Amino acid sequence: QVPLKPGRSLMDWIRLTKSGKDLTGLKGRLIEVTEDELAKHNRKEDCWVCIRGLVYNVTPYMEYHPGGEEELMKAAGADGTDLFDQVHRWVNYESMLKECLVGRMAFKPMAAPKVKFIQVMFFPFFSVTSIYIFSFLYFLFYSYDWFQTDGLITIVIYTKQKDMNAELVIVDCQDKRLRGEIILDDHSYLVEVELDHAVQDDFTVNIAEKVGKVEIILRKKDNVHWQVLGRPLESHNTFIKRVDRGLFYRRCKLVSKTEVTHDTKLFCFMLPKSTHLQVPTGQHVYLKQIIAGTEVVKPYTPVLPSLPLDFKEPSWHDGAHVYLMIKIYPCGLFTQALDHLQIGDCISVSSPEGNFKKSQVQTSEDLFLLAAGTGFTPMVKLLNFALAEVSCLRTVKLIFFNKTEDDILWRNQLEQLALKDERFEVQFVLSEPAEDWVGKQGKISPSLLSECMKRSRKDSKVLICICGPTPFTEQGVQYLKDLGYSQEELHAFTA
Ligand code: FAD
Ligand code: NAP
Repeated sequence: QVPLKPGRSLMDWIRLTKSGKDLTGLKGRLIEVTEDELAKHNRKEDCWVCIRGLVYNVTPYMEYHPGGEEELMKAAGADGTDLFDQVHRWVNYESMLKECLVGRMAFKPMAAPKVKFIQVMFFPFFSVTSIYIFSFLYFLFYSYDWFQTDGLITIVIYTKQKDMNAELVIVDCQDKRLRGEIILDDHSYLVEVELDHAVQDDFTVNIAEKVGKVEIILRKKDNVHWQVLGRPLESHNTFIKRVDRGLFYRRCKLVSKTEVTHDTKLFCFMLPKSTHLQVPTGQHVYLKQIIAGTEVVKPYTPVLPSLPLDFKEPSWHDGAHVYLMIKIYPCGLFTQALDHLQIGDCISVSSPEGNFKKSQVQTSEDLFLLAAGTGFTPMVKLLNFALAEVSCLRTVKLIFFNKTEDDILWRNQLEQLALKDERFEVQFVLSEPAEDWVGKQGKISPSLLSECMKRSRKDSKVLICICGPTPFTEQGVQYLKDLGYSQEELHAFTA
């Protein structure tokens, strides 16, 4: 993110798009754009960008782009889809840029695009003809079946994945639309159908972890015999990269909102009965709201309702609620709207995303967590997981950077946890301490890091996780590398 000029916030942009001003220069006309035409508009004062086949005149948006003009210019006069997906594929550009839409890219014939896509994705080393032979292969690994009794419909998904678990299965049943997604590393398998008949809201998900079999058991609304499971929807029975799947949202009800500090609140959202979803440790979700007529999406990292002090029972997850610890910024577009939600109001919550792997912790002896402000949020589940489930860990240390004492999130709970569990230590570092602060002060720096992070033994296996404002995280990673830590020993939480 770069500092934007005054009057160039997202809210200002939304206002401009609603002003009726002609932002494309085409007076509302939509045109077909050739590659040659697109390439001509490659200057700051005249900049067109193509995203997923649609061309936008982003010239008026330049000064409003949170990532800065230079970033936007990287896609000037060209197809910016990949760049967009790499940086913030969750941003709803269709809504944000709808007044900048110039038109569609002119159709360019391509040879057998579907086969080509499958080839590049799964069989880069084989010829196109062999793909026809091989492309059925994944059905050997991922397939589904269904059967019925008088009252039930059971859908069985066979994944052959040995460590299948509830976090890898996301099921939503909205009206008659059933969507069952299985996450397998970077890929996703989807069963998506418009059911033949109506079902009850609640359903059961059974997972046979060892054989990778997932059962979704729906309860029929009417006791009728189904001829078919339903009408397959567009993405039904596909196995593709997760990043190509697109985010799926469901409406969740705000059930409570409690103060954590003077500016941070713990929001508890209830998932619909017709959703099966558990957000894995280290992953985030996206919240979506319509603000002044524009869809705005922001990422948040679910936490636990509190820090568990007793790790004997790891089954804290009730499966029905998502807890988010969110700082409300006085001028924050999204958080102000969020803070105005009333108990009982609903908001759209996406399926989880993120590249943190629990296995990174499972082999570590020393775990250091560097958090700044709300960068504490991914550390909550991580702490719980590390202390409850990783037996080889000798030390877990949280170094928590804040401006003042009043900003420290869950200070009491952290101090209690440190008293209760001798493997855990917490150190607070304040950048704007009051005079009577006797703890550490300052900012993240190489000297502070080498002083605070001591291995439990020479050459112990270390994992360092870092999260906070982007410059904090980037600087921290650089300092840690300068101190000799390898890339494999670091994990930075980002979007
Ligand atoms: P914005 O309107 O974006 O502004 C926030 C504040 O920064 C305002 O005071 C604004 O004036 C200032 N500001 C914004 N942009 C600029 C700029 N370019 N230049 C100068 N000042 C600027 N937050 C949480 O509280 N809890 C979480 O669990 C959490 N998880 C996250 C997970 C991920 C993966 C990521 C990437 C972020 C996470 N965040 C979290 C941050 C969150 O997504 C939002 O960025 C945050 O809530 C602010 O949103 P907003 O629209 O209210 O603020
Ligand atoms: P904050 O209160 O502004 O800052 C917390 C601490 O970080 C302060 O001590 C602050 O020192 C320090 N800090 C801020 N910027 C710094 C920089 N450039 N270099 C060194 N230290 C810096 O933090 P916040 O408002 O809670 O913001 C938290 C951030 O974490 C947000 O940007 C949010 O997007 C991010 N976050 C990311 C994820 C994720 O990626 N997964 C999850 C949650 C939150 P100063 O007094 O010097 O500013």
